[in-house]
Amino acid sequence: MAKRDYYEILGVPRNATEEEIRKAYRKKAIEYHPDKNPGDKEAEEKFKEASEAYDVLRDPEKRALYDRYGHEGVNQGGGGTRFEGMTMEDILRGFGFADDIFSEFFGRRRTSAQGRGERGTNLRIRVKLTLEEIATGVHKKIKVRRLVRCSACNGTGARNSSDVEVCSTCRGAGVVGRITQTPFGAMQTATTCPACGGTGQTIRANCPTCRGEGRVMAEDTIEVDIPAGVHEGIQLSVSGKGNAGLRGGPSGDLIINIEELPHEHFTREGRNILYELFLNIADAALGAQVEVPTLEGRARIKIPAGTQSGKIFRLREKGLPSLEGHGRGDLLVHVNIWTPKKLNDEERRLLEQLRHMPNFKPTPTKEDRTFFERVRDVFSS
Ligand SMILES: [Zn+2]
Ligand SMILES: [Zn+2]
Repeated sequence: MAKRDYYEILGVPRNATEEEIRKAYRKKAIEYHPDKNPGDKEAEEKFKEASEAYDVLRDPEKRALYDRYGHEGVNQGGGGTRFEGMTMEDILRGFGFADDIFSEFFGRRRTSAQGRGERGTNLRIRVKLTLEEIATGVHKKIKVRRLVRCSACNGTGARNSSDVEVCSTCRGAGVVGRITQTPFGAMQTATTCPACGGTGQTIRANCPTCRGEGRVMAEDTIEVDIPAGVHEGIQLSVSGKGNAGLRGGPSGDLIINIEELPHEHFTREGRNILYELFLNIADAALGAQVEVPTLEGRARIKIPAGTQSGKIFRLREKGLPSLEGHGRGDLLVHVNIWTPKKLNDEERRLLEQLRHMPNFKPTPTKEDRTFFERVRDVFSS
């Protein structure tokens, strides 16, 4: 079979930049992914063809030779590709493609001891949120220091791409099979390749930037959408935003621990929020219009004449949404009657007059007493 032109395979112009070539290859890899083309031999061949093209075009030396002499120049004039017998995952790992899309694609196979660099560790951070942010959900840009893939070597850990070789012990699989005799017969077991530590590669010369780790410490800004209704202690996990893995291995996750900042007006009880309203004796006895804060600006409430201390006004759906997205809590306005702490002569004189008035003598009914029971219930629920 005559070999197709490498630029044509990747669909890039002959003067494409390294980044354009990388992006084009990445696109092809996604297009020919086995999950999208189950059992499709042609897709697999196309993927290998694209991988071979990328392997040459990403390397400036090989690319120059290919530009001048064609396939003969890079010694790949024969039939087949140099990736014969390798899995898609092995090939991608060899190229240092261990970024989000691929760890997502291969995530569920990660446990099957397929060879690849060691997974990066999870990173934990705390994010403090106001109740207002919790009410609406919030987009946060978070600065973290984390191990990211080394851009000098693209995560391979090698000085040049030509310094990366497929491990000869495991032929790139990262695992070696062993036949063990057991009482139930011969069993094949797979263990991490001792020669390459599971990466499937051996490296002749380390990348000077990362000293062969394939990752470096860097300040990174991570954008995350925090959903409405979270609460103190909840953990959110951002896949693949922890520390990068060793030599192109998958990244760990970023674990976000949510903390609630104390609010100037409110305390939180689950989905409800509580506001302590202080009323003077006159407003409570005569009735009044008062303003109370809410999470979305101020609201007016009508205080009926004869309002007792402990009364709770419920502002429906002015609380917090549920994390599951159904329903919203209430704002509970808890009335406290304010007793003046000091009095001037005029105030003292008026209160002295009121002190022995008939309606100022407390005469709680049974209803008033059970009312305070109900208040306790609201606060303990
Ligand atoms: Zn490096
Ligand atoms: Zn190996």
